[in-house]
Amino acid sequence: MSVVTDPGQVRLGERPLIVCDIDEVVLEFLSPLTHFLRSHNYDLLPRSFRLHGNIVSLLDGSEMSHEQFDAFEDMFFERQDLWQRPAERAVETLHALSAEADIVFLTAMPPRHHGIRRKLLDRFDLSFDMIASEQPKGPIVAALHDRRHLPVAFIDDIQRNLLSVADHVPECLLITMMANADFKPFAPAPVSGILAASDWSHAGDLMRGHFSAMASKTATSLA
Ligand SMILES: [Mg+2]
Repeated sequence: MSVVTDPGQVRLGERPLIVCDIDEVVLEFLSPLTHFLRSHNYDLLPRSFRLHGNIVSLLDGSEMSHEQFDAFEDMFFERQDLWQRPAERAVETLHALSAEADIVFLTAMPPRHHGIRRKLLDRFDLSFDMIASEQPKGPIVAALHDRRHLPVAFIDDIQRNLLSVADHVPECLLITMMANADFKPFAPAPVSGILAASDWSHAGDLMRGHFSAMASKTATSLA
């Protein structure tokens, strides 16, 4: 399938919609980034929920500057196919969910790397449409969902993105989840209305539960 920047290009069926972040959700990000940095004599230390300030030289302990990090991150994304792998149970859970829901990926990575990401996802048989945009995620999910009377769920590891969707699509099921275990303890506690999933199996259960609760609500109101 394709990389699209306009939510209007995505074709949805008459069924629930799952919008899914990529880095730390569908693909591992912090673990492969750590391995990549180590191959360049740096380490990423889980000391707080941020990258800047936590990347240090293995040679002299100095912290990596913002400019250096931007260059390294760019290099990492350029070669992401050599480093990034799906998060545990992401592939099988998404395939199982795709039997009952439409799945759309929403990634905020710099646009120049979209082609390599598409190829990487396709290699793992994750051929769902991908929207690549650095705009806030809330308005994009709102445009996709388009106020349909069908369930919608959004999964991301960054609270700012979840809150953006909460603002624009109040009826959306919001799930926070991250693949990396070392940084998870430092993640901000989810604010009310956001559910924390421990892994993909848990996230799958939360979404199925939400979809069937919505279906029985609709059935009751039609009765
Ligand atoms: Mg992410």
